[in-house]
Amino acid sequence: MPKQHLDVIIIGGGLAGLISAIHLSKHNAEVLLIEKNNYPKHKVCGEYVSNEVLPYLNFLGFNPFEYEAKHISEFELTTHNNKHIKAKLPLGGFGISRYEMDFQLYKKALKNGIELFQDTVVDVNFKDDSFQVITKSNQILQSKIVIGAFGKRSNLDIQFQRKFIKKKSPYLGVKIHMSGDFPENKVALHNFKGGYCGVSKVENDHINLCYITNYEAFKKFKDIDAFQEEVLFKNSTLKQIYNNSIPELEKPLTISQISFETKKPVENHILMCGDSAGMIHPLCGNGMAMAIRSAQLASNLIIDYLQEKITTRKQLEALYVKQWKRNFSLRLKAGHTIAYLFRQDWLAPKLLEVLRRLPFLVPLIIKMTHGKPMKVSR
Ligand SMILES: Cc1cc2nc3c(=O)[nH]c(=O)nc-3n(C[C@H](O)[C@H](O)[C@H](O)COP(=O)(O)OP(=O)(O)OC[C@H]3O[C@@H](n4cnc5c(N)ncnc54)[C@H](O)[C@@H]3O)c2cc1C
Repeated sequence: MPKQHLDVIIIGGGLAGLISAIHLSKHNAEVLLIEKNNYPKHKVCGEYVSNEVLPYLNFLGFNPFEYEAKHISEFELTTHNNKHIKAKLPLGGFGISRYEMDFQLYKKALKNGIELFQDTVVDVNFKDDSFQVITKSNQILQSKIVIGAFGKRSNLDIQFQRKFIKKKSPYLGVKIHMSGDFPENKVALHNFKGGYCGVSKVENDHINLCYITNYEAFKKFKDIDAFQEEVLFKNSTLKQIYNNSIPELEKPLTISQISFETKKPVENHILMCGDSAGMIHPLCGNGMAMAIRSAQLASNLIIDYLQEKITTRKQLEALYVKQWKRNFSLRLKAGHTIAYLFRQDWLAPKLLEVLRRLPFLVPLIIKMTHGKPMKVSR
């Protein structure tokens, strides 16, 4: 039975939730993290993390290379007519599965004394400057602050009637881990008609293949195998990787209704972190870094609020919105614009041809969707 009165309740134990929990535990805040699923668990994700988060992860006492993360420094893009573009990544990154990374962060949070409760939050009420969080198993918990870290699409988005949830989204994602040959220092984006597939290595020497496409392109085929055969494998590099590798998951993992609509970083007085606050197009490979960075922003402000350096909730919320926008608005816009341009069937091949002829533009575009190495103060 979890404690009933807390400083902070965090809803969702993905990257944003776990990082917030670990950060807040360093300042002895009374925190409860509620996650609906068990650990470890596979998630649909490209599993390439930008190095911008490394200084902060180290500050939190988490080193991904202890868990065999791969150092990634090279980038390759192939067009659906099989042309290659290569570039150095400006900052680089690392490859680690969500199965491993979330699990290790979960263990770290437990070790730091965070209380973790497995349940689904079904409602949150705000009254008399305090929150009441209600779970599926009928627990009613009170806290001064709630962090919403419940990901890109949750039952709570429906409960709170968030605007984006009312719009249908046409995107779906598929992930599979395979064993085979692939350079461990490379992340590749292989385009096909209607989408693209990210490829990079993670721990255990597995290759992560993760693609995103739209439902219109997918629905003409009877299943994933037929879609891959008829659409993905028109890209000969992708076909070669798939045909020369052995699946390591029983079947591919899928998610649908991926939305890139604008969200608000604060709703119903809840500080939203990670995908709950806004999702960058996966093409940019920066969603995890944004989840981690937003957790840092929220945690620092919450500590100031609990220590009464920030004296009103209004001030806390205004500061979070301001900092969130300053950190993420530009890269979200850049990400959406790039994804939009590459979705135009008539334009994408022309743009890719420009990049092939002027490869120095590639790192500049990547920089627009990424941040600088994170600063750590406390
Ligand atoms: C196809 C695809 C490829 C991607 N590739 C990359 C990539 O290569 N690099 C990158 O940086 N980013 C990538 N991303 C983005 C990245 O996966 C997300 O930005 C990141 O997972 C966000 O973390 P989060 O903590 O906000 O959400 P999540 O990791 O989704 O965590 C949310 C958690 O909340 C829990 N939850 C939800 N509702 C409730 C509830 N009511 N009660 C309790 N718990 C709840 C869920 O179970 C979940 O564990 C990709 C995304 C997609 C879709």
